[in-house]
Amino acid sequence: MASSGGGGLGAQPLLRVSLPMLAENYAALCDLAGPARLGAVVKSDAYGLGLLPVAEHLARSGCDLFLVAWLDEGIALRERLGPDAEIWIMHGVEPGGQDECSARGLIPVLNDPDQIARWSSSHADHPAVLNIDTGMNRLGVDPGQLPGVIAFRLHALMSHLASSGRPDSAQNAEQLARLHRAAGRLGSAHRAPISLANTGGVLLGADYRFDICRCGIGLYGGILHERIAPVVELHTQVLQVRRLRAGESVGYNARWCAPAGGAQIAVIAAGYADGWLFDGGWARVGGVRVPMVGEVSMDLITLDVTGLEVQPGDPVALADAQLTVPELSRLTGRSSYDILTGIGARFRREYVLGAEP
Ligand SMILES: *Cc1c(COP(=O)(O)O)cnc(C)c1O
Repeated sequence: MASSGGGGLGAQPLLRVSLPMLAENYAALCDLAGPARLGAVVKSDAYGLGLLPVAEHLARSGCDLFLVAWLDEGIALRERLGPDAEIWIMHGVEPGGQDECSARGLIPVLNDPDQIARWSSSHADHPAVLNIDTGMNRLGVDPGQLPGVIAFRLHALMSHLASSGRPDSAQNAEQLARLHRAAGRLGSAHRAPISLANTGGVLLGADYRFDICRCGIGLYGGILHERIAPVVELHTQVLQVRRLRAGESVGYNARWCAPAGGAQIAVIAAGYADGWLFDGGWARVGGVRVPMVGEVSMDLITLDVTGLEVQPGDPVALADAQLTVPELSRLTGRSSYDILTGIGARFRREYVLGAEP
């Protein structure tokens, strides 16, 4: 075995977020969802890309509706975006949070009969969204539990699709029909805008779009679609290059061995503590796509760079315009959501502002 090392150290792996591409995806989804209004789902730190910079850029690009999971996220958004942005809190509010929620003009999504009763009794003048479970069996009121009379300011009716990523699933049409029935049961006294579609729902067709669409993953470049551009790049560097003889192993538990003829391995600076944990993953070195081999370590990954000219310090792309998040999803079997939100806080974040990189 032989090794060489000593490249320029110090710089942690870099997550580069293209704000112009984010804005392009927002415009494309507005177009696809139109004439429905498009809300940006920015829960979970905008899917790992940074809640405030992402939301601020979307607001500058014309977005005026933002959806988060938690009250605290809504408060942070309100402080950054000012009084005009419409912000929905999808987990709803606990009793102790109701006053703050209404005082800050945040709109809770009411998910069960208790939340509805509490909001109706103390904050009936403040708008809230009513979430109806139409078959996903996650958050939302069962259609059978809907109150006969809505005693709060009904801002919108909402439901969520379980199988929007699978256009051929019969569950989509079933949920659509249940939502129509539930809205019909509420009757004309409670007409309100309806919101069903997430990104996948927008692509299911006009029947699914109603008045408001709620898009996350499409904004962040996590789907394969001709109108959606990659938003995320991940960069790191080679720390060391090693030559292995046939049969020598790499990494913990010796899970990979060099084949006949030996191998050249690049040890790169990223690991599972950076949220980058998938055996069978890929990276790009010198413009060439190379496989990860051996187990991913906490701060290190090993790549098979046999036959390539590679030096310590050389740049490595873990994701870029040629190795996109949906492509990584296809290669590894992990969802784009999981890949994006898994990007740890240890990636330095850099936001590309002007023209595309
Ligand atoms: C996360 C979420 C969305 C966004 O879904 P995408 O598939 O990322 O577009 C929409 N609605 C609800 C209720 C969600 O939880």
